[in-house]
Amino acid sequence: MREVETIIVGGGPAGSTCARRLVQHGRGVLVLDKARFPRLKLCAGWITEKVLRDLEIGPGDYPYPMLRLDIRTHVRGLPFALRWFPTPGENFSIRRVEFDAWLLARSGVEVVQHEVRSIRRDGERFVIDDAFACRWLIGAGGTMCPVRRGLFAEPRQKSRQIVTLEKEFSYPARDDACRLFFRRGLVGYAWVVPKGDGHVNIGLGAKAKYLRKTGTNIHDHFRAFLDDLVRDGRLDAATAAGLHETGHPYYLFTRDGEVKSDRCLLIGDSAGLATMDLGEGIGPAVESGLMAANEILGIGTYDKSQVTLFSLSGVVQRLMRAANRRHLPAA
Ligand SMILES: Cc1cc2nc3c(=O)[nH]c(=O)nc-3n(C[C@H](O)[C@H](O)[C@H](O)COP(=O)(O)OP(=O)(O)OC[C@H]3O[C@@H](n4cnc5c(N)ncnc54)[C@H](O)[C@@H]3O)c2cc1C
Repeated sequence: MREVETIIVGGGPAGSTCARRLVQHGRGVLVLDKARFPRLKLCAGWITEKVLRDLEIGPGDYPYPMLRLDIRTHVRGLPFALRWFPTPGENFSIRRVEFDAWLLARSGVEVVQHEVRSIRRDGERFVIDDAFACRWLIGAGGTMCPVRRGLFAEPRQKSRQIVTLEKEFSYPARDDACRLFFRRGLVGYAWVVPKGDGHVNIGLGAKAKYLRKTGTNIHDHFRAFLDDLVRDGRLDAATAAGLHETGHPYYLFTRDGEVKSDRCLLIGDSAGLATMDLGEGIGPAVESGLMAANEILGIGTYDKSQVTLFSLSGVVQRLMRAANRRHLPAA
């Protein structure tokens, strides 16, 4: 049996951030991830200036393309795009396949490729698959995190679930702007996020409960979105026809729900921390990873309500929520 002070299940941004801080303080830590990095992660790959600050990534540190985003917002088919995007600070795009692998390698943590299946308590220790034991256990395994499933009985709040579809592919720049589309009938938004190396990520995300309420299918929204992109000359018809989108659910922040139990902490998507307005998940994953490490180090407390809850500035959040409410059918 391998014994370590802390085991982190999941080597995404939440897990690697937590690991890095523990390694920096000379603590024993091991990351278990079922995937071999670099691994595919469905994500538009938008990050904020704050994420770079929290991760201590300075100019020139990141070895892969990182594009500074010029974000334009298209609202309900209006013939013009809003050029002002109300987030504090600048915005960037990265490719998750590169970003996550680089963060994990940079953390200096030992990573073991292992799919976690069972977790049990044995006195003061957590025992994983009868092969690993630890005093502190961090659940950073994303939406389907086995730590959450094994040790936290409370079900997820369905009303906070976001469903997504996306495709990232090489599409040498037609349009360098990042575009967000707030579409009629979609409680969420669609995006076109260009990357620094000629890839582009096209996708959309929506609250599952409103799709159910309106009886609409997310694949139909995705296809209609592609049709609009073709009509507006942003995507050629042959490329659109050949795209096979895939999706992944995750959860927006809610005050309810435990993320701590004794020396077991859930962070990132495992805790369901994405921002309540734009569903930004990388920033909260990083923030919660840092807080969890501080709790283990005895220099802070992990309190999920301290993560950033909104991506947009206050007035815009309220306008967005009002706009979404107006076009919903009566309950
Ligand atoms: C389509 C889509 C677009 C998005 N776009 C954005 C965006 O542009 N910007 C943004 O900020 N957020 C975005 N998000 C949200 C963001 O991707 C997540 O919030 C973020 O990845 C959470 O990081 P994490 O470290 O918690 O989990 P993850 O990055 O999901 O990492 C979890 C890790 O756990 C591992 N794992 C899972 N199960 C096991 C197991 N049983 N045993 C061992 N390892 C396991 C996985 O292999 C994975 O490496 C998007 C999400 C989706 C689905």
